[in-house]
Amino acid sequence: MTAFSLNPEQTARCAQLRELAAERLRPLVEAHAKGEEGGVNRPLTEALGELGLLEGLFTSGALDLCLMRESLARVCTEAETALALQGLGAHPVHAYGSLEQREHWLPPTRAGRAIAAFALSEPGAGSDAAALALRAEPDGSAGWRLTGEKSWISNAPEADFYTVFARTSPDAGARGVTAFLVPADRAGLTGAPLDMLSPHPIGTLAFDGVRVFAADVLGDVDHGFRVAMTTLNRFRPSVGAFAVGMAQAALDAALAHTADRDAFGGKLKDLQAVSHQVAEMATRTEAARLLVYAAAAAYDRGEPDIAGRAAMAKLFATETAQFVVDTAVQLHGARALQRGHLLEHLYREVRAPRIYEGASEVQRAVIAKELYSKEPIA
Ligand SMILES: Cc1cc2nc3c(=O)[nH]c(=O)nc-3n(C[C@H](O)[C@H](O)[C@H](O)COP(=O)(O)OP(=O)(O)OC[C@H]3O[C@@H](n4cnc5c(N)ncnc54)[C@H](O)[C@@H]3O)c2cc1C
Repeated sequence: MTAFSLNPEQTARCAQLRELAAERLRPLVEAHAKGEEGGVNRPLTEALGELGLLEGLFTSGALDLCLMRESLARVCTEAETALALQGLGAHPVHAYGSLEQREHWLPPTRAGRAIAAFALSEPGAGSDAAALALRAEPDGSAGWRLTGEKSWISNAPEADFYTVFARTSPDAGARGVTAFLVPADRAGLTGAPLDMLSPHPIGTLAFDGVRVFAADVLGDVDHGFRVAMTTLNRFRPSVGAFAVGMAQAALDAALAHTADRDAFGGKLKDLQAVSHQVAEMATRTEAARLLVYAAAAAYDRGEPDIAGRAAMAKLFATETAQFVVDTAVQLHGARALQRGHLLEHLYREVRAPRIYEGASEVQRAVIAKELYSKEPIA
């Protein structure tokens, strides 16, 4: 890729992904939903495995991951989210798991038969994740017992395994957290679904003395915060790509609708107030896309200052997508708010990425920290 465009192979791959999403994945979402959303769509995740897309989560660079997420999101946000959640939940196992953990969990995760989840957030610890309080208390020499709560965990309580971040050293902040791979069938682990505006499966988890052992640790004891942060860093630019895909879908819909809708003796697009809004949507979407591609390509090249660039990409793309989807709703009028309309779906979908994996304000804090850490220009 140059700084300005994808190469022909990448462009062709994106088109192929959009076609797969429309022909193979969208029908599975419609079959699952039948008017109702929520609940893990296992046939959809298995299809992502059969198509080799889940394998790509573990073998692709950051840019390829972005192209995959953007292409799927443009056609089928549910498929995009199912894919991303397998990555978020299983990346810690891929990157930090023992041979035994990897051999046991990664093949079924790649095949879409095992559902993964990433359990970091708690009612009292969201943006300030280092304040997490779920206790891992020593249980003789055998291991630990986990006690506490996790909340807003995507794929909970239906996942087959959870990457759980727990406090092994009290009062040690980020330095006292350990990551554990916890199979869903461990005694004492329960959960409940949450009814959210965002249309993907999510819930709470309750740990009542759940036993975990040395073989369940991911990475090293008390070094789990690094497991969480490297996972989130890897996925950050691609959250922006998800947003770009949604923005493009909304822009495509707005273009088609304003070209077709009769109004005042012409078409809606003949009104300059309308066509200039569409031009603004397209310009901001393209700017967001370029920022995302640049951040991901920099990550792949191992350049310094990745944190700030990834934060800019996530911040700008998610805020842009909100603007573009909202404007597309406006240009469609009432029909966009009807349940089942693409824009009604995108309107619910687009809100959460400005909050999760680092809220917009947190991204600004990351960017500012990096800016002020540099030598001042004389
Ligand atoms: C749809 C969805 C899916 C999710 N999936 C998962 C998941 O799979 N796993 C998981 O662990 N968590 C998940 N989460 C939780 C998510 O990570 C948290 O919501 C997020 O970290 C923010 O935490 P909070 O909601 O507690 O908000 P708080 O941390 O209480 O923040 C509230 C607001 O305060 C402001 N704020 C916070 N910190 C700062 C700051 N430093 N500077 C300036 N302003 C600030 C921001 O406006 C922020 O939105 C999900 C959330 C949603 C909505």
